[in-house]
Amino acid sequence: MDGNAIGLRVHARVDAAAVAHNLAALRARLGPASAARIWATVKADAYGHGLHRVLPGLAGADGLAVSQLADARACRAAGWNGPLLVLGGLLDAEEAQRLALPDLHLALSHDRPIDWLGDAPSRAAPPWIWLRYAGDIGYTGFDDAGYAEAYRRCTVLARQGRIAGIAHLNHYGRAEQPDGIAQADARFQALIRDLPGPRSFCNSAALLRHPDAARSTDWVRPGIALYGASPLPDIDGPALGLRPAMSLHTRIIGIRDVAKGERLGYNGSIVAAAPMRVGMVASGYGDGYPRRTPAGTPVLVDGHIAPTLGAVTMDLIPVDLTGLPPVAIGAPVVLWGTPELPVEKVARHMGTIAAELLTSLTPRVPVIPVPMAGPDDLEQK
Ligand SMILES: *Cc1c(COP(=O)(O)O)cnc(C)c1O
Repeated sequence: MDGNAIGLRVHARVDAAAVAHNLAALRARLGPASAARIWATVKADAYGHGLHRVLPGLAGADGLAVSQLADARACRAAGWNGPLLVLGGLLDAEEAQRLALPDLHLALSHDRPIDWLGDAPSRAAPPWIWLRYAGDIGYTGFDDAGYAEAYRRCTVLARQGRIAGIAHLNHYGRAEQPDGIAQADARFQALIRDLPGPRSFCNSAALLRHPDAARSTDWVRPGIALYGASPLPDIDGPALGLRPAMSLHTRIIGIRDVAKGERLGYNGSIVAAAPMRVGMVASGYGDGYPRRTPAGTPVLVDGHIAPTLGAVTMDLIPVDLTGLPPVAIGAPVVLWGTPELPVEKVARHMGTIAAELLTSLTPRVPVIPVPMAGPDDLEQK
């Protein structure tokens, strides 16, 4: 066990070099002929990894994409000097009055922020505007009827020098499907055919499943793949050449041999169908490992896959050690984040997605950064 982890029940490790590797892998997927630039999506504090921890691995990104203006300021404070895209745009008129960040890009999803920008003072370094199309996901953005008019209103702001330029943003609802973007694309491309400006359509799933489409856009916006997890249902990150950036570690703190028919857990919810050896793993929903984890979800005990028994408590996860080579008290356990046990595989068992698990660690989980190797050891793009 890592010396830094002595005395810890549970800890996470975050590997900025893995993020650098994944960024390079995504660039390679775009290919040398593509001019597409990369907004590295770091919303939710870099998908739960901690922005300051992964930033050294994102030096090769062309820009960072965040949820809100406060996050953009946090990126600057953490030392990021490149472009910043705020996906949530402006919250209110007050924010439009106080846009002092240089190299700022704002995604706008409705008309009010255009009013607010028109009323705000002109700036020496005005923001770029990314008009967001509602698209097939439909949660937020301009629909077909409103898009062109929003564009026209922004051209007025551009002439007044209140904004630096106008760009086009779409976000797909089902990019992981082989036929997931064609219809959505045809519709949006027709809408913006006569409206100049850079285009950004692709998240991780679109980039990985539809690289040809991604290649011909101006900017891509990968998130989850930068952290090493695959968004595609049929293939894991390691098989895509990605490296997990977060792993979650704990250990065995109890072992019991249980007779057939014996019950365990609150209200006896676990019943031993046969004599079994049960290991107690020193983690639980108090760390962000979901309480509703179904039996059979895999963990790695001493490097061997073992199934959980369900009935996760705040501090304990029961696992079935029957049939494993002998396990000792203190044996290391990995809950997710190795090539054998990628977080997306664990998430699938739990009926969720990798991003939800990664963003769910609670504050009591210490995070140990994996030291980044010297520049000589870093993979080049
Ligand atoms: C979160 C987000 C992304 C990144 O998505 P991933 O699936 O994590 O790659 C891209 N664009 C928008 C608008 C987003 O909200």
